[in-house]
Amino acid sequence: RRWFYGPRVAQFEQEFAAFQDAKFCVSCNSGTAGLEIALEALGIGPGDEVIVPPYTFVATVSAVMRVGATPVFVDLDKSWCMDPNAAEAAITRRTRAIMPVHFGGRVCDIDRLGGIAQARGIALIEDACHSWGAKWKGKGTGALGLCGIFSFQESKNMTGGEGGAILTDNEKFAALCRSICNCGREEGMPWYHHINVGTNARLTEFQAALLSAQLSRLEAQTIKRERNAALLNSELAE
Ligand SMILES: *Cc1c(COP(=O)(O)O)cnc(C)c1O
Repeated sequence: RRWFYGPRVAQFEQEFAAFQDAKFCVSCNSGTAGLEIALEALGIGPGDEVIVPPYTFVATVSAVMRVGATPVFVDLDKSWCMDPNAAEAAITRRTRAIMPVHFGGRVCDIDRLGGIAQARGIALIEDACHSWGAKWKGKGTGALGLCGIFSFQESKNMTGGEGGAILTDNEKFAALCRSICNCGREEGMPWYHHINVGTNARLTEFQAALLSAQLSRLEAQTIKRERNAALLNSELAE
C-alpha cells in the first residue's frame, strides 16, 4: 500500500550507499534528473560555468544548460576521461563546478581533479552514470568529490526500468537534494509543507525493489562481462 518512499526505497538507498562507500544516497527517477537536482542544490545558474567533457551522454551537458549555466568543454586524455590539465586551464572566475564522467567505468583522476576543485573552492560533481561498483584507491565512485550521480535506465548495467541516485558524504547537501527531488518538502514535516522550489523526481517502491534485486546480482554479472570482454579482446586481436 505504499508506492513511494516506503521501506523498499529506504532499503535500496541504504544498500546502494554502502555498495559505493558513500554516507548518503538520495534516489531519484533518472540520472538526468539527478544531475539537474545536484546543480540546483548547489545554486548553480545563469552566469555560472561548469566544466564538462565533450565525450559523454547529452545529459551531462543539458543538465548544466537546464539550470541556466554555461557548459565549458574540455577534452579527454588517453584515459578516456577528462584531462585534469585541460580542466585546470579552463577555470575562470565564473567556474562553479567540474563535472567529469567516469567513462565506461574508467575512473577519472580524482586526486588531480579533486585537488584542483578544492584549491579553487568549487564543487567536484561526478557523472558516475557508467560506474556502478567502480573504485578510486579503494573508495567507490559517487562520493569522491561533493557528490556523484548514477543512472538505472534500462541500457545501464543495473536497472529499475528508469531510476537514478545522488550519492554524497555531506548530510546537508543530501537533505537539500532530497527536498528538491520531493517537491521542496522538508523531511519529517507535514505533507503540504514546502520550503524549497523543487520538482517531483521520486523513485517508486516498485523500482526500488527491482533495483535491490539487480544490485544483488551486479557483482557476478560484472565479472561475467569482464570475462566476455577479455575473450572478445583476445579473439579480435588478430
Ligand atoms: C545514462 C547517462 C546519463 C543519464 O541517465 P538517465 O537515467 O538516462 O537520465 C547521464 N550521464 C551519462 C554519462 C549516462 O551514460
